[in-house]
Amino acid sequence: MKRRWGQWEPIESLAESVRSKRISATSLIERSLKEIKTYQEYNAVILTLENRALAHAKQIDKFVNEGKNPGKLAGVPFIAKDNFLLTDSETTAASNILKGFIAPYQATAISRLEAEGAICVAKANLDAFAHGASTENSDFFVTKNPYDKTRVPGGSSGGSAAAVALGMVPFALGTDTGGSIRQPAAFCAAFGLKPTYGLVSRNGVVAMGSSLDCIGPITTSAKDAAVVLDVISGQDTLDSTTVKSDPKGYSDISALNLGGVKIGLVKEYLNQGVNNEITVALNSTVEHIRSRGAEMKEISLPSIDLALACYYIICPAEVSSNLSRYDGVRYGYFNADVKDLDSGYIRSRGIGFGKEAKRRIMIGTFVLSSGYYDAYYKKAMTVRTKLIEEFKAAFEQVDYLIGPVTPSLPFKIGEKSANPLDMYLADVMTVGANLVGIPAVSIPIAFSKDNLPIGLQVMARQRDDRNLLALSMAIEELINERD
Ligand code: GLN
Repeated sequence: MKRRWGQWEPIESLAESVRSKRISATSLIERSLKEIKTYQEYNAVILTLENRALAHAKQIDKFVNEGKNPGKLAGVPFIAKDNFLLTDSETTAASNILKGFIAPYQATAISRLEAEGAICVAKANLDAFAHGASTENSDFFVTKNPYDKTRVPGGSSGGSAAAVALGMVPFALGTDTGGSIRQPAAFCAAFGLKPTYGLVSRNGVVAMGSSLDCIGPITTSAKDAAVVLDVISGQDTLDSTTVKSDPKGYSDISALNLGGVKIGLVKEYLNQGVNNEITVALNSTVEHIRSRGAEMKEISLPSIDLALACYYIICPAEVSSNLSRYDGVRYGYFNADVKDLDSGYIRSRGIGFGKEAKRRIMIGTFVLSSGYYDAYYKKAMTVRTKLIEEFKAAFEQVDYLIGPVTPSLPFKIGEKSANPLDMYLADVMTVGANLVGIPAVSIPIAFSKDNLPIGLQVMARQRDDRNLLALSMAIEELINERD
């Protein structure tokens, strides 16, 4: 499988080169800034942080010259989705209502990366507030797919995935509430990791659905994702839902020996009207894994067909609550052309929020309202519990679950934007992992005959992120051997 774009060295060797003075942090940042400029027309980036990044790089180079330890990720450039708060710079979540907002504090994930010497060079485009699967819901512009400019890069972390695919940076941060790391990674031939819920702190990340939101890396390999996860994961007093990292860490993983590994193929995912080229690529990868001694069998998750409906009740419910803080008074856009406070709220929210945010506020408010709570929200929560039980039962039979990431190849810009239900269907195979809180990855496995990327989804038990990454490495090796 050939990726089209220039690759960076593995993250660990980049940092080692900086520490050993083979290369300066400043030159890495300059290279990254140059790539960002070269591929500007793809609209992957909302804001470039040239001065901030170069100042940071200078400091790292000074540290190296003084013989101090500049950190595990010394000088490595990265891009953060624009829903991560970053001190001294604007955070918009690609929404007009947050234009001009300068955060007074910074996301824990960003601070942890910076403490190890990584350097944020830019903020990436996304569907506003991470609502979407194509970046077409960005209030600013649509990101183009690096493999076909007329198609979407996926979403909502479409800018992050496109930036990695275009070789702007070795890694980018994304968020995944219902698939927003895995689906764009699949559409851009990148590796995407949605970690176990709570493994990475959500502090300082613009909230979408708080019981579903996960933060993770988009990279060009499982190993690089493990290196980043090692730095950003772990408990944080500022997010009470965080859990401890694996005691062994993540960065020293090696490819899992496939002999005897038990992998389940999610039966229901194969009946979802999956594109034929995706099915063919999936089957051939499955056969390949089997040939290395893994035990593969079909596993049924009987209620998984309800996952999408369940997600599109629970997620908007949480969205409607999280978006209530944008009243125009405390921060963000305020329309002052009003007589009283109430009309101030109405006008500011009416003008500031885009169509999709409004749609989700309305659906969410509806399903939480007293007359409909039992019929919708409570039922969805019952289904969620049922899904947790079914996944638990599946993981008593196998160690991993495998399937497609999406039913379709990257679609044309505009193809689904007029029909929200059609767009929501793009998430049919990814929302399950968020509803049950398990880790899941998207691994690039093939290209279609029109050179469009195809990804493979692998899920594992909660807190089994380390093994999931080791298995991903083994699958990557198989794919590389094949090509
Ligand atoms: N596409 C899904 C949605 O629109 C997932 C979004 C996400 O994971 N942030 O809700």
